[in-house]
Amino acid sequence: MLPPFVWSDDCLLHEPEAEVWVGVRTPATELPTRAVAIRGSLVAAGAGEVAAVAHDDSALLAVHDPALVEFLRAAWDEWSAASLPSDRVVPYVFARSELTGGRVPAAPAAVWARPGLFAYDTMTLIGPGTWSAARAAVDVALTAVDLVVGGEPLAYACCRPPGHHVTRSLYGGSCYLNNSAVAAAALLARSEGPIAIVDIDAHHGNGTQELFLGRDDVRTASVHVDPGAGWFPHFLGFPAENDDANLNLPLAPGSRDIAWLAAVQRAAEFVAPARALVVALGVDAAAGDPESPLEVTAAGYREAGRILGALGLPTVVVQEGGYDLATIGPLVVETLAGLEEGRTRR
Ligand SMILES: [Zn+2]
Repeated sequence: MLPPFVWSDDCLLHEPEAEVWVGVRTPATELPTRAVAIRGSLVAAGAGEVAAVAHDDSALLAVHDPALVEFLRAAWDEWSAASLPSDRVVPYVFARSELTGGRVPAAPAAVWARPGLFAYDTMTLIGPGTWSAARAAVDVALTAVDLVVGGEPLAYACCRPPGHHVTRSLYGGSCYLNNSAVAAAALLARSEGPIAIVDIDAHHGNGTQELFLGRDDVRTASVHVDPGAGWFPHFLGFPAENDDANLNLPLAPGSRDIAWLAAVQRAAEFVAPARALVVALGVDAAAGDPESPLEVTAAGYREAGRILGALGLPTVVVQEGGYDLATIGPLVVETLAGLEEGRTRR
């Protein structure tokens, strides 16, 4: 038994082609085939598909600065009209707040300087289909919210590009719009709070943390590889950022199932007072993933699903990372099956 999953073909329109990492243009890993692979596994396992429905910007703008949204909407058209030598929008200069003494930076006249107002890395390129796909991913997440608000105990948003690294006004980490955070905002607007977000992607959900830090209506917990061991997002994801509504549980590389599941259990206990749950599901903590050293097994993901399902909360699962095309689909299926098992065996 698997929950329904939401799908939009438009999520396939984003083709980053590359990432600029340490100054080198390397092949992209956040590919459209990721979503195709997950969908194939879900259909083969008998899950029911629901077409995404278009939603207005209200939940999106509850989370993101309108200036970021407008930049992303227009970025490719402006870039391509300027006949620049790169076939993707990429920043070369960054408008850090220290640069302007905290004042709002001037709107740059040069199109090629504009990404530096909103991007915080060089890895997250924008192409002709990026806006359509990122906005479609928001619609997928919001349609999954509709299902849960309508009475489904559990629904899965099969979307890309991922979103958990995006803050209110900055994009990065292969993410453009924070789908999990938008889902939480929509749940908060339509049901009783507090809402919980548990992020089990291999990397810290820094964008989600920063969006809700200091608020008591959204509790956030993230289980991730220790950024102090050299992993993205490098500057965030430490216990020092914890408070009454935010819990970071960084793990050493090579932690494997037992330590990872103990952290997932702590995250579940931390958010237990919530009335609804968003699971930011990255399967890049798995052993076969090229992006993570946590070495979690498929059985581990299923058990994580059981732990979170046992909370018994209305749950929206939103896809984040996971880059091994051979295993990404089966790992999602295992997690969703675990969530169903945990929920029904309480
Ligand atoms: Zn990740």
